[in-house]
Amino acid sequence: MVVRGMARAFVYPRLELTRWSPLRRLVKHRAFQFMLILPNLAVFVLVLAAAFLGTPVGNRNFAIIFVWIVWWAALIVLLIPLAGRIWCAMCPIPAPGEWLQRLAIVARRPGRPFTLGLSWPRALRNIWLQNGTFLAVALFSAIILTRPLATGIVLTLFIGLALLLSLLFERRVFCRYVCPVGGFIGLYAMVAPLELRVKDPQVCVTHKEKDCLRGNAKGYPCPWMAYPGNLWRNIDCGLCTECLKACPKENVGIFLRPFGQDLLLARAPGWKGRSLDEAYKAFIMLSCALIYSAVYTGPWGFLKEWANLSDPAGFALYAAGFLGLNLIGLPGVFLIAVALARWIARAEIPLRRLFVELAYALVPLGLTGWIAFTLSFVLVNISYAIPLLSDPLGRGWDLLGTASHPWTPYMPELVPLLQLPFLWLGLAVSIGLAFRIAQQNLEDAAKARRALLPIASFMTLIVLLFQRLYLG
Ligand code: SF4
Ligand code: SF4
Repeated sequence: MVVRGMARAFVYPRLELTRWSPLRRLVKHRAFQFMLILPNLAVFVLVLAAAFLGTPVGNRNFAIIFVWIVWWAALIVLLIPLAGRIWCAMCPIPAPGEWLQRLAIVARRPGRPFTLGLSWPRALRNIWLQNGTFLAVALFSAIILTRPLATGIVLTLFIGLALLLSLLFERRVFCRYVCPVGGFIGLYAMVAPLELRVKDPQVCVTHKEKDCLRGNAKGYPCPWMAYPGNLWRNIDCGLCTECLKACPKENVGIFLRPFGQDLLLARAPGWKGRSLDEAYKAFIMLSCALIYSAVYTGPWGFLKEWANLSDPAGFALYAAGFLGLNLIGLPGVFLIAVALARWIARAEIPLRRLFVELAYALVPLGLTGWIAFTLSFVLVNISYAIPLLSDPLGRGWDLLGTASHPWTPYMPELVPLLQLPFLWLGLAVSIGLAFRIAQQNLEDAAKARRALLPIASFMTLIVLLFQRLYLG
């Protein structure tokens, strides 16, 4: 880990929430993260029970409805846009592995952790693996999202892999480098107006002991292998609050800030700058939002059949199209747009670098694309959750008296009216961000304005495609 003796100042306005002493005491309490994880772990156990023992009918199964509708909608529409990686702080999947590694659930146990403690290979210290694991899950989404058994198997694999990696490697390598969900949460968390950061980076430079890195009696060393003194982006921090507990200088806080600040950051001490693995995550997420919108809301029933593995030849075609669009098609068209931008602006910057830099401007549009896609099914289907609250395992129970609540689509006519403002908001923010990134790289506002033309056209085309899919 690089710990440089340089400090960069925060250049945007921040309001420290943890100055409010009840909140500060709460997040510094050793049981804070456990209290976040515990209810989710209870639901997770119920999800696995329903997945393996409940009805195979998707829309009557607790696992399908609570994971792919309730949790998914809460994650995409609320948690990530407003609170970044907060889900990573409360996720039950890595918890058993972390507790075993620490041989403790809440307490700060001194001594060696229970793990071989291998270092994660340097070549994999990026999110390429997360791009791969996400594509693997996304390719089979039509099966995973509708078959309880498939959901159960995937979640069991996640928890098993997280446990195994905790026993082999140091700290939370599953979350940081492997988890397919963590990859996109990290990317989109950079939009959020909430951050955990140091208050004054200069204090970290002069604090030689670096308790946040080494751990002390109050807190574990950062499980995400981050150094708070060099932490500039939400993508690198799982919001576990260990450094907040450990820092003897009281130099770590949780802040409110303007949306999207991490995306404007070009370089900072300890961070080399924008990278191709993260750029590809932006392409993959945007492509998948488009593909899912076409498969699940578009008029082409055969696509759904193919994605559903009803016909092996059809699935092979779907898989080729899916991977082709994700890895070559959309990045390829964007590359052409960037090449045009470079040519129009008469810019000297290498094409590859401008391609990577400008790809980050797609992050707001990707997030709003996912919000729009999620809105297409959540209001219509969320009422399936109500009877399941009374009978989660399909045993004929009526625990809360809601077991016979009928399926009720809420405000289906309003869905497009909600989707379009999100899409156009995402477009406006992405175009603004593309201009700022072009300015950072071309160092000339006039050149940046010229370079914007093909990039903004590409983004507008994407929004028109979404619009066509939603409005027909
Ligand atoms: S312990 Fe606190 S002051 Fe010291 S380096 Fe870590 S965050 Fe900075
Ligand atoms: S930087 Fe702090 S809050 Fe973030 S993952 Fe590391 S220890 Fe946890």
